[in-house]
Amino acid sequence: MDLRSGSPFWPVKDGLLHAHPPLDADVVCEVAVIGAGITGALIAYHLGQAGVDTIVLDKRDVAHGSTAASTALLQYELNVMLSELADKFGPRDASNVYLACRRAVERLGEIATELRADIGYERRTSLYLATSPRDVKLFRTEWELRRTLGFDLDLLGERDIAQRFSFARPAALLTHNAAQVDPYAFAHALLDAATRRDVRVYDRTDVVKMETTNIGMTLRTAAGCTVRARSVVFAQGYEAHSLIRKKVARLVSTYAVVSEPVTSFNGWGEDRCLIWEHARPYLYLRTTPDGRIIVGGEDEAISDPKRRDRRIEKKTRTLTSRFRELFPAIAFDVAYSWAGTFGEIRDGLAYIGRHMEWPHAYFALGYGGNGITFSVLAAEIIRDAVLGRPNDDAYLFRFDR
Ligand SMILES: Cc1cc2nc3c(=O)[nH]c(=O)nc-3n(C[C@H](O)[C@H](O)[C@H](O)COP(=O)(O)OP(=O)(O)OC[C@H]3O[C@@H](n4cnc5c(N)ncnc54)[C@H](O)[C@@H]3O)c2cc1C
Repeated sequence: MDLRSGSPFWPVKDGLLHAHPPLDADVVCEVAVIGAGITGALIAYHLGQAGVDTIVLDKRDVAHGSTAASTALLQYELNVMLSELADKFGPRDASNVYLACRRAVERLGEIATELRADIGYERRTSLYLATSPRDVKLFRTEWELRRTLGFDLDLLGERDIAQRFSFARPAALLTHNAAQVDPYAFAHALLDAATRRDVRVYDRTDVVKMETTNIGMTLRTAAGCTVRARSVVFAQGYEAHSLIRKKVARLVSTYAVVSEPVTSFNGWGEDRCLIWEHARPYLYLRTTPDGRIIVGGEDEAISDPKRRDRRIEKKTRTLTSRFRELFPAIAFDVAYSWAGTFGEIRDGLAYIGRHMEWPHAYFALGYGGNGITFSVLAAEIIRDAVLGRPNDDAYLFRFDR
């Protein structure tokens, strides 16, 4: 399956950062991670830090799946508001999900510091825009709920928004715990750091067969090599959802555009905040360290890559004109545009951990617009499970929730 197409910006900008060999011999290990996108990279990094004998296998080059297409806004806020989540799971679990996601975003900042590599990590505030006057009450409730939990965020009214930005909206939430990153460079840097802790990384290595044994799993690669592992981690992104009989996610297509560097960010507020909106499908915006603007959105329930790709041109025009409506004073010239496949889980949360159909495996299905936030949680939960340690967040993301 093609996970993305067009010209995702990050691999074009960064080139091939680190080379890894394909697997060409049989190997034995404690944990085999299938998938070297941002999820597999974070898991390998955490397992490497814990001293677990780990190998990583990817059929493509490292970080060339959805990770290369990601716009990489790092947010604790989910597509499902805390108040909506509380209706589904009860206030205690909903609060725990939001608190776990906030810790995950903080952890991403710590990792960025630990890596000491150029991964385009920048802390940002995040602006969540109401669409219609009907949303104002909902935004106030959400603001109050999150404040009660100790979240640092402001409720902006129509006047505040007009003073700071070049567009009008009835309300917005401005949160202070967000960031952005270059997801491709980030995944490379994580795997590079993991290899320094003896994690073995093999790309262009397609896992074509998997068998459960009494003591673990045996994997076969397309080149005929065998991997024997006590545990396997499925970090294959949207390609992993076919491993479970019950459909757990809906695949949708999303589109993104990056501009040429701009000379001014007129009307964007003080810190070039991340921007996204309550409307569905929503528009999401960020800037890059080299002064570009990335606009994403226009999601559609299309899983066929050919149909998805035929729409890139039209979606590029729509995203560009939506950007110009918001920021008429910023000159926006399209440099690259692309499409990617996105998975949506109905309740908005990730699935992380064991599934009864695979007794020696862990899943890390960090789908949705907060995929990277969920990937960190997956890395911590799976590391703790491998080490036999308790993890307070694990129950929130289990399959039978
Ligand atoms: C356009 C777009 C914008 C997004 N924006 C955001 C955002 O702003 N913030 C956010 O948090 N998330 C965002 N996401 C989601 C986020 O990017 C994903 O959740 C994340 O990249 C998934 O990473 P992954 O490592 O799980 O999957 P992938 O990056 O797809 O990696 C999975 C890897 O598994 C490999 N693989 C699959 N099958 C096999 C096999 N049989 N053998 C060996 N290897 C295999 C693949 O080759 C691939 O490299 C966005 C996604 C898209 C597409």
